[in-house]
Amino acid sequence: MMQRLRNSAVHHGFGAAAVARVAPVVPIDEAPLGPPKVRLEGITQRYQNGSKTPLTAIENINLEIHAGEFLCIVGPSGCGKSTLLHMIAGLMRPSEGEVWIDERRVENTGTDRILIFQELGLFPWLTVAENVEFGMRHGMGLNKQERRARVAQYLKLVHLGQFADSYIHQLSGGMRQRVALARALATEPDVLLMDEPFAALDAQTRDLLHDELERIWAETGRTIIFVTHNVREAVRLGDRVVVLTFRPGRVKREFNVDLPRPRSLEDPEVALTARDILDDLREEIDKSLEVEYAK
Ligand code: ADP
Repeated sequence: MMQRLRNSAVHHGFGAAAVARVAPVVPIDEAPLGPPKVRLEGITQRYQNGSKTPLTAIENINLEIHAGEFLCIVGPSGCGKSTLLHMIAGLMRPSEGEVWIDERRVENTGTDRILIFQELGLFPWLTVAENVEFGMRHGMGLNKQERRARVAQYLKLVHLGQFADSYIHQLSGGMRQRVALARALATEPDVLLMDEPFAALDAQTRDLLHDELERIWAETGRTIIFVTHNVREAVRLGDRVVVLTFRPGRVKREFNVDLPRPRSLEDPEVALTARDILDDLREEIDKSLEVEYAK
């Protein structure tokens, strides 16, 4: 039997250099976690913003994410969640600290990681299949036939096999999200970085996509780092939820979520766990609102 870890949380001493890990309470018959897939070591990011004092967006973030883990990061708007994902993606280098994937330092973008965000970047002049294929065109060394096989495989995985020849404008918002997911998965990255991907969807579509993402994650064994400001969504999806402070974004607390899967947003236990996390987050949201209103 899986030992219950619901809401086991760890406070982080700000400025402490120690790596942020939830205290493991692993039953004897559980396989131990392997080495981290992703390691964030003392990540700080300052933006110049044209003023004398740079804006410290995130400060001294230390985190380890294990292979196959579904990690959710929550925090108020402007706490540096997107900045953090961009760094893991290798789209920008931190002012201080290092990102490691499989114990290799991230210097650049790589095919082992992919970032999916709310603005999906799908091309309206290409069909669904062509959009999915487009992501595999460069740097993967796949010929046309191999790319086509992967397109078919991943469209099937997201249940869009029937829509291969449709154009993006012919699809609903949820279907477009699934195209973006298929395009990302078809490059077979180890790590999926998701930046509020479902924020603009209606509740019903979002529920379906939660189910779909959870199934795909379980089937493919990918490591997922999922950013959201929606705590319920984080508890619905994550093995672990990390709460960031308002600017500068630091790790405030981590929660292990050991509720049985598949979960639903409506599960009373999901709601209860979310409420605990929300208490922590609310303090940070209040700080962000004070700053906003002071402007
Ligand atoms: P979140 O994703 O949590 O909303 P972001 O990472 O987008 O936060 O931004 C964190 C802070 O850094 C914000 O105050 C934002 O205005 C600032 N910021 C983000 N990107 C840049 C940039 N390229 N140049 C200057 N400031 C930035």
